[in-house]
Amino acid sequence: MGDLKKRQKYTVQPALCLDFDGTIRYSKHGRIINQPEDVALFAGVEEKIWEYKDNGYLVFGITNQGGVAYGFKTEAAWQAELAQTVGLFARDPFDHVAYSLLHPKGRVQPYNHRSLLRKPEVGMLAACEVAMFQQGVVVDWDKSIFVGDRPEDEECARRAGLEFIHADTFFER
Ligand SMILES: [Mg+2]
Repeated sequence: MGDLKKRQKYTVQPALCLDFDGTIRYSKHGRIINQPEDVALFAGVEEKIWEYKDNGYLVFGITNQGGVAYGFKTEAAWQAELAQTVGLFARDPFDHVAYSLLHPKGRVQPYNHRSLLRKPEVGMLAACEVAMFQQGVVVDWDKSIFVGDRPEDEECARRAGLEFIHADTFFER
């Protein structure tokens, strides 16, 4: 259960929850990101995210990466792609990045299963909450925001009771 004494001192912070693909980043080559070199950040993303972070928001990445289950990329390739994505920020804004590599219709074991971490399920949000709690931070979900570009993002936000803002609106593009 961790260090109770440490936990007596804690902070409560809202979170800015960000989808990755089509929200903060896109592929320079084709529709889908399949290798680290494909990754590009949309213009203005870093500034906008830091605006929130400087105002006391935690920043979470919440990304479905079912391409691993389908065999379009390996888990190692995803890790390299994630490092590349974070490296494109002059200052890393992320408190935690949660990702789901599983998809029930995939063909690659052990990723071809239903996962409660996969949006529109709320598991990745819960994973962020746990990661923060272990660092003495309680997430204020009532004041948190989910930004994404697809119906599963909006549905995930709805199930978690979070305000949803479409990426194009949030990033003013
Ligand atoms: Mg997306």
